[in-house]
Amino acid sequence: MNDHTPGHELGIVRGLHGAREGMNPGDEAPPGTPDTGENICPDCGGTGRRAGGECPTCGGTGKIIEAIGGAG
Ligand SMILES: [Zn+2]
Repeated sequence: MNDHTPGHELGIVRGLHGAREGMNPGDEAPPGTPDTGENICPDCGGTGRRAGGECPTCGGTGKIIEAIGGAG
């Protein structure tokens, strides 16, 4: 039963389409995903900087990808 297990690096976050490439921690979906859109990063207010450094939530972009609507 010891076939190639991905180990601890993979298999942690397998959201949506299984790809988090190019995503930041604050993103809810990869860019280009339907029903999502850019929004100002709530943590840095769109500056991309926090505490004298790069905002970890948006990766310094000042923007995040957010799921839109649906509920309503
Ligand atoms: Zn930010």
